[in-house]
This record gives sequence, C-alpha cells and structure tokens, in this order.
Amino acid sequence: MKCTIRKLANRNGNPGCENQKTAAMNSLLLDACPECDLLLKPAAPAIGEKAHCPRCGFMLQRPRKHSIEQTFALSIAGLILIIPANLMPLVGIKILSNLQDGTLWSGVVALMNENMWLVAILVFLSSMLFPLLNIILALLISAHLYLGRPHRKLALWMRLLQQLDEWSMLEVYMLGIIVACVKLSSIAEVKFGFGLYAFVALLVISAMLSSNLDRYSFWQHIDRLIKRGAA
Ligand SMILES: [Zn+2]
Repeated sequence: MKCTIRKLANRNGNPGCENQKTAAMNSLLLDACPECDLLLKPAAPAIGEKAHCPRCGFMLQRPRKHSIEQTFALSIAGLILIIPANLMPLVGIKILSNLQDGTLWSGVVALMNENMWLVAILVFLSSMLFPLLNIILALLISAHLYLGRPHRKLALWMRLLQQLDEWSMLEVYMLGIIVACVKLSSIAEVKFGFGLYAFVALLVISAMLSSNLDRYSFWQHIDRLIKRGAA
C-alpha cells in the first residue's frame, strides 16, 4: 500500500486569536501509517534521514534534496530515451550472413503471431505502456509543482503514478534480454543495437526517477497548490 496521509484536525475549537487557533490545529494534525494505521505526529526528518513507523517499521518519509527539480529533469530524459528504446533494434542475430533485428515492439508482435496473447499484452503493458505513462505523469506533476501551477487533476495523477510505479517492469524485460543473448550467443552471432543502449539508459533513469521522487514532499506541495487553486 502506498503512502496516504490523512490529516485529522479538530475543526470545532473555540474562536479566538487566529495564530493560537492555527497553532492548536497544527498540534492536532496527525499522519496515519499506510501499513498499520497508527496515528503519528508528523515527523520532520532532515535530508538524508528516514522516518519509520515505530509499530510496523514502514518507512514514512525519506526527504530528498531538490526532488521536484530532479524529477522534472529525469522525466524529460526518460521521455527522450523511451522513443529509441521502444522503436530501435535492441538485439540483432546474425546467422549465415543473414542479420535479423528485433525491437521491443517486434517482440510483442511476434508473441501475438504465436497466439500468446496474454504474454504479449503483459509485455506490452509492463515494458512499454506503463513505463511511458509513468514518465508522462512524473513530468506533468513535477512541471506543475516546479512552475507552481495548480491543476484540478494533480492529486489523481499522483495517485496513478504511485500505482503505476509497481507495474513498470523494465528490469524484468532486461533480464529476459540478457538470458536470451547468452543462450543465442552459442548458436549465432549476437549484435547489440542502439535501442538496447537506450533501453539500459532508460532503466537507469527510471530507477533514479523512482528513488528521487519524495512522495511526502510532493503530496505537501500538491496540497498547497490545490488549496491555492481553490482560494
Ligand atoms: Zn505502521
């Protein structure tokens, strides 16, 4: 389960000085652990530190430096790399001077031609569509946060990004390519195409994107932008 912060506040306090009222409400703001629902006072760990749930050990916060800027830059790089990674040859097999290239998409088509529809759909979703959506959503969210522009769908995009992150399985596909190359190298000459280098770079960028995205900070910024947009 991904991080869902629930803010609980006593909204029925006595009217009085605005600052005292705000301070009192802030003291009642609690975060719920996404794993065990333990209510906790919001932790404020420094950059490089981690905040864990004292009951189940779930990592609640791990602040990152310049997370929005880095996510913005990495998602642009990912969007550029995903085009050659999907459309250019990954691996070429040379048998008796006959070279045959294979792209990510041609692998999906080959599986469909073999009537392996379920596998073809899974490969298409986990290695092409979900990584693309992941990068587009990260770009949309970080661009809006970076530019300070509210959007009514920011929270929806963020929830989708958190869910899609689990379904993007580029590393599994990479493992499959390595195994196939090792097996084929004994019977044919294997040549690596430009698409493979782009795919490996995309894999690194995706891993950096996932680890640099400070979800707690993103949700705080989204909350502020939504409130500003509603005001
Ligand atoms: Zn917990």
